[in-house]
Amino acid sequence: MPSYVDTEKCDGCKGGDKTACMYICPNDLMVLSTEEMKAYNQEPDACWECYSCVKICPQGAIFVRGYNDFVPMGGQVHPMRSSDSIMWTVKFRNGNMKRFKFPIRTTAEGAANAYLGETGANLDDEKLLLEGDLPTPK
Ligand code: SF4
Ligand code: SF4
Repeated sequence: MPSYVDTEKCDGCKGGDKTACMYICPNDLMVLSTEEMKAYNQEPDACWECYSCVKICPQGAIFVRGYNDFVPMGGQVHPMRSSDSIMWTVKFRNGNMKRFKFPIRTTAEGAANAYLGETGANLDDEKLLLEGDLPTPK
């Protein structure tokens, strides 16, 4: 089920050029109505429920209606980030509530470098595995 914005909570990221949800959505689905100063998911059918916008929203204003297999009928899952952890609150349809807290990485937004410390492959060290090198089946 796609994400949706609680307009009571959304503050339009205080009028920034690019809101947090616009920044993070891998599908560029979130847009800001400059008249209302509220964000919305412009193409719910294309949302893959990755929860990125839900997790980054500083106001906790974005929700995803979960599928029945993991949050059946009235259940809800909602994350709350702090500087070093994320707390997932799971509300079950019978009223039970559970919370799960996990540490998060603390790399600044946009600063992650997956190749840091990598030197690249040295093709001189590579040896092609030729047919003759294969062990003989017994
Ligand atoms: S990140 Fe949250 S507060 Fe900011 S514009 Fe999006 S929905 Fe609104
Ligand atoms: S759940 Fe993921 S794909 Fe859907 S609007 Fe949010 S960031 Fe985009």
